[in-house]
Amino acid sequence: VAAPPADYLAGLNPEQRAAVETTEGPVLVLAGAGTGKTRVLTTRIAHILATRRAYASQILAVTFTNKAAREMRNRIGLLVGGEVEGMPWLGTFHSIGVKILRKHAELVGLKPNFTILDTDDQIRLIKQLIQAENLDDKRWPARTFANLMDGWKNRGLTPEHIPEGDARAFGNGRGRELYRAYQARLLSLNAADFGDLLLHPIAIFQNHPDVLADYHRRFRYILVDEYQDTNVAQYLWLRLLAQSSEARVAEGIRTVNVCCVGDDDQSIYGWRGAEVDNILRFDKDFPGSTVIRLERNYRSTAHILGAAAHLIAHNEDRLGKTLFTDFHDPEHEKVTVNAGWDSEEEARAIGEEIEQLQRKSHALNDMAILVRASFQMREFEDRFVTLGLNYRVIGGPRFYERQEIRDALAYFRCVCQPADDLAFERIVNTPKRGLGDAALKLLHEYARAKTMPLIEAAGDLVQGDELKPRPRAALAEVVRNFARWSSLLPTMRHTDLGEMILDESGYTEMWQADRSADAPGRLENLKELIRSMDDYESLPGFLEHIALVMDAEQNAETDAVSIMTLHSAKGLEFETVFLPGWEEGLFPHQRSLDEGGRSGLEEERRLAYVGITRGKKRVKIWFVSNRRIHGMWQSTIPSRFLDELPEDHVDVLEPSTSYGGYGAGGMGGYGASRWDQNAFSASSYQTPGWRRAQAAGGGGSTYAGGRGQAIRYGEGGVAGSEPASRTA
Ligand code: ATP
Ligand code: MG
Repeated sequence: VAAPPADYLAGLNPEQRAAVETTEGPVLVLAGAGTGKTRVLTTRIAHILATRRAYASQILAVTFTNKAAREMRNRIGLLVGGEVEGMPWLGTFHSIGVKILRKHAELVGLKPNFTILDTDDQIRLIKQLIQAENLDDKRWPARTFANLMDGWKNRGLTPEHIPEGDARAFGNGRGRELYRAYQARLLSLNAADFGDLLLHPIAIFQNHPDVLADYHRRFRYILVDEYQDTNVAQYLWLRLLAQSSEARVAEGIRTVNVCCVGDDDQSIYGWRGAEVDNILRFDKDFPGSTVIRLERNYRSTAHILGAAAHLIAHNEDRLGKTLFTDFHDPEHEKVTVNAGWDSEEEARAIGEEIEQLQRKSHALNDMAILVRASFQMREFEDRFVTLGLNYRVIGGPRFYERQEIRDALAYFRCVCQPADDLAFERIVNTPKRGLGDAALKLLHEYARAKTMPLIEAAGDLVQGDELKPRPRAALAEVVRNFARWSSLLPTMRHTDLGEMILDESGYTEMWQADRSADAPGRLENLKELIRSMDDYESLPGFLEHIALVMDAEQNAETDAVSIMTLHSAKGLEFETVFLPGWEEGLFPHQRSLDEGGRSGLEEERRLAYVGITRGKKRVKIWFVSNRRIHGMWQSTIPSRFLDELPEDHVDVLEPSTSYGGYGAGGMGGYGASRWDQNAFSASSYQTPGWRRAQAAGGGGSTYAGGRGQAIRYGEGGVAGSEPASRTA
């Protein structure tokens, strides 16, 4: 008679149970969203511990984020009744990598207390090296090289191994030398960058078999979540640790006990070097592996699942999987597609829906807004502050806390309030103007001696001859610029002034010249910042609003709506999910469309699949017909992904008639799609656009539409000049 299943196994379906109980030998769990892959991993660890197959310290478990690691640790504790000593080897690739590297730092020429370089330090260092090679660092920007190197490191390539073409592409053919010089410099500084946290351990394992053998004896079980998003370096690292070896055999471990779980349809980090092929190759790397498929989804309603499955079926590059759910109920809401006039409308309507749900006692913690690009967060953050609705931004800073936004705001603060030394310090040498430490020290001393603001002190100093000619000229220009911008404050339109400041200071140009992967997003954020100023009457009024937004608390304890990018939403789930901004160019994103070819677009579609499958009960998709780009209203085209949703699981909601103003040709491009027939028949929109603002209570600017170009009427309302309520 078989023993009754232990508690932690109760409730698993047979395939999940097999994945948990097949502890010996390589196992790949390949399954769609919400089928319990992460749950299987957690339960598997609990099972290994409960059956005393290994101690917690003998299990290596890799998650995609630190947050996921924390959650897994908690769940394991609950499953085995809380008597687990901590799991020292549960974490992300990086957190485990750093731990290994600290133990063996000497083997690569580091000391155990090495520092981990942040991006700024890294850029500064590369710049020095570029200059030391007598290269023009304008022509060969440090960030471009940082990016290149990151790509090499993601592929596990040391300087000797980078392709000849790559090596020649940078710095007049000196890419390889630079990479080498950079690594040498890091060693002399006793520092490692992020990529090194994996590359150094790989080198250690390869060059010191005794060390690797130690880890082989230690790690009896290896588990990896989100395997579809591992890059080559992570893969190499893992393969070295997982391979069978004499050391293991001597311990009585004859099998490779590695279990990876993943979903090829959720591979969304290709742009960062992830290789979905790792999952397809599993069987070759680990011969004799068991592949387990999970097909029952426990997370979402049949409507949500139906919508997601239909959408992802449009991808050609996929293994194809079955997904079903028993979660049927006539009460279940279909996925909704909602149309809005512009992003402000979108944020307002979603805010209202959230408040409605809240009134029906839904917790804010159960709701999330998932955006494609971080600039989209701004509108929601502003709206929620106005409403007094708690929110938290996951996986990144809040909009106004982003580096580029803080920099821009520092410029604006200096213009409005010349005594704001903190702001002045922040940007006096951003972008770089050749103001070295000596010049800045002099400036500070002078200001302190005279007890005057820095900017005033700068005005004095540039008259004298204490500064060297170069910094003096640079500082003089800063002083002149700020004087001129301040003088324009009373007369010039504040949005134009804001844009002008960012242009004339060279700040915008700094990011335009930047070749790193995040630079385009930063430029988008800056544009969104200027756009958002339009809702306020003046620059000081705008800054006051920002101060209030920044003051809103982000407390992990309070009930709050989550706002995050689709990329950060991986692995998470929420009762209600809002997916705004489904428009061509935003989602799928223009960059993926510009790439041409299929792969960029297919990765965007996987991102859409990830987004929809985060929802348990409700998924609400939005698109708007106007977004302001470069300060100009542009009419948009609904995302092609909308056309790929199945009608039987989706409700297309008519926009309320107060929108008005859609031009007949506004939704061109997808002429035959049902979206413009249902949602955009011209006859529904007889109400003039400007009514919208009145109906909404005098907020915001007012528009009316035309073909492809919406026209802005007057200055409209005074939204936001009223005090925003606080969310504390
Ligand atoms: P993703 O691909 O999004 O990472 P996943 O496959 O990792 O999803 P989980 O997050 O592990 O899926 O599980 C999804 C949800 O289903 C969770 O709330 C989990 O607790 C629940 N679940 C999984 N298996 C079962 C089961 N056998 N019985 C009840 N609920 C389950
Ligand atoms: Mg998961």
